[in-house]
Amino acid sequence: MTDKAQTDELVIGIDLGTTNSLAAVATPTGPKVLRKQDGSALIPSVVCFRPDGEVVVGQEARDLALQYPERTVQSIKRLVGRSGSDVAAELEGFSFRVITNERGLPRVSVDDKEYSPEQISARILAAVRDVASRALGHEIRAVVITVPAYFDDAQRQATKHAAELAGLDCRRIVNEPTAASLAYGIDGSKDGTALVYDLGGGTFDVSVLRIRDGVFQVLSTSGDTHLGGDDFDRLLIDEILTTIAHSADELEGLDPFARQAIRRAAESLKFQLGEADAATLTIDLGAAGSTEVTVTRQRFEQLIAPLVARTITCCRRAMRDAELEVSDLDHVVLVGGSTRVPLVRREIEQFAGRAPATSVDPDLAVGMGAALQAGVLAGKDSSLLLLDVVPLSLGLETMGGVVSKLILRNATIPASVTEEFSTQVDDQTAVDINVYQGERERVEDCRKLGSFKLRGIPPMPAGLPRIAVTFTIDADGVLRVSAREQRTGTEAEIQIVPSFGLTDEEVKRMMEDSIEHAFDDMSARELVELRNKAQAMVTGTTKALELSDLPADRTYSIKRATKQLAAALESDPDDTQKLRTLVDELSALTAQIADDVISSAVKKSLSDES
Ligand code: ADP
Ligand code: MG
Repeated sequence: MTDKAQTDELVIGIDLGTTNSLAAVATPTGPKVLRKQDGSALIPSVVCFRPDGEVVVGQEARDLALQYPERTVQSIKRLVGRSGSDVAAELEGFSFRVITNERGLPRVSVDDKEYSPEQISARILAAVRDVASRALGHEIRAVVITVPAYFDDAQRQATKHAAELAGLDCRRIVNEPTAASLAYGIDGSKDGTALVYDLGGGTFDVSVLRIRDGVFQVLSTSGDTHLGGDDFDRLLIDEILTTIAHSADELEGLDPFARQAIRRAAESLKFQLGEADAATLTIDLGAAGSTEVTVTRQRFEQLIAPLVARTITCCRRAMRDAELEVSDLDHVVLVGGSTRVPLVRREIEQFAGRAPATSVDPDLAVGMGAALQAGVLAGKDSSLLLLDVVPLSLGLETMGGVVSKLILRNATIPASVTEEFSTQVDDQTAVDINVYQGERERVEDCRKLGSFKLRGIPPMPAGLPRIAVTFTIDADGVLRVSAREQRTGTEAEIQIVPSFGLTDEEVKRMMEDSIEHAFDDMSARELVELRNKAQAMVTGTTKALELSDLPADRTYSIKRATKQLAAALESDPDDTQKLRTLVDELSALTAQIADDVISSAVKKSLSDES
């Protein structure tokens, strides 16, 4: 990653949303949203396969949704990186056809063709790239893409894959709430906590973040994957329909043109009611004539109040999961177009006990934050930008169905950990490496991510082969696992089949389970975790130092602390106290550098703006 970065190269940030996508770029005067010639920035995440064979993306596709429901693909983000069974429940809401292929993966089916969700996302990314390239006047290739904080490996991988299909080089996947926080000027230079409330078109996400030592850590996420502005529209559509049609027959009789007009009118009324106490519109129903509707803000708020109340319940849950009180929050950040609705703002204000920050346009915030990240990546010090953490631990199955964790939950990424394993049976010439994600000790309680075989081990007594397994997680949170028999040099790497994502509920349940069982063998486990962490830090820091071009006087103490920690791991692997002290020392030293790098880079772009 670092070797490719040139100082003058442009990397743009892309918010690849469920409803809308957009691109932005970091400029000396702050993040700049890239717009179409007509001034619009949001590109609807909609792809329409027209009967004449042409494929259109964005607003044009959205306008065709009612005319060609089976040909218009919307909300594809719900399917990306997930299995057919994971998404079975989603399909009901879709007007287009989704089938499950022989590998158990969902495919969009139009005419006699099938498309993977990544292929559809790639179309959207390509459209966003084209808007960006035109706005900037030259071809864009390098991007940073945002995803929800709860996206797992498979969903992140699939997002990267979509970028590849679009001919883009995805330099990093960033969590949406982290990006939004950056856009609001929370740049990691000061420790604190933030609640990020993101109400979009079809989804609601709330994340509680802790910013410490320059690292954005996701403490909890909650939300509702079927709650958003579209639901507000639907309520208004029903309201309009009851005023203009009086029987079910009459409703059935409305043609796609009239339905489209009503849908547009609903959204337009919603926008107007953000400013005015009442809104009136004349709707052209084509053959059915035209009609005038008036909706008051009071009525609108009455309709949506139960939905808004549900979002607040999620906020409470997220705070409880993060073990924080509302008074502990340093920032309340609003994201998503639907947070423009006045009732939403009032309810959050009441919940948080203070007015939320509104200095940034809520539907542009994620894209702008992605641009800030992209700007830092395009600079020179990217090797030390430690902004994200691993959401769930990663490990492999060892004897007795136990998961041995190599990379721990909340480890900062990038990270690489190697551990040695051996055979269990005499003359074993192959071993299966099964990779798991989760917090629990036993394989059946974790999620299998994939597996591969290391063959060609020469016959030896059990326990003699030395098999080094390396887990490498890159800056995007994407995992690669390799195994090498040290005596013979035989090697194998995992084929990471785009595997099946965890649903939000599963992540939550796995976390809860692990917390419930955490006391089982705490101290032994603690020591193992500490050792793993120490090892990860030694490896990670050594690598980071190799890549960085920091002056020797800044790295001297880090090098020394790294050596001490490596030595202690050899000589006193059971000395919890000693290891902890050395780990803390090293973290403090590296955090300072990460902090300096991030704050100088991001702060510079922010202060240039003001
Ligand atoms: P996503 O993140 O889900 O892709 P966005 O953050 O772009 O989506 O939010 C899209 C939603 O925001 C739509 O339902 C849209 O109607 C709504 N929205 C945009 N502007 C406003 C506004 N001024 N008032 C109310 N809702 C709005
Ligand atoms: Mg969004």
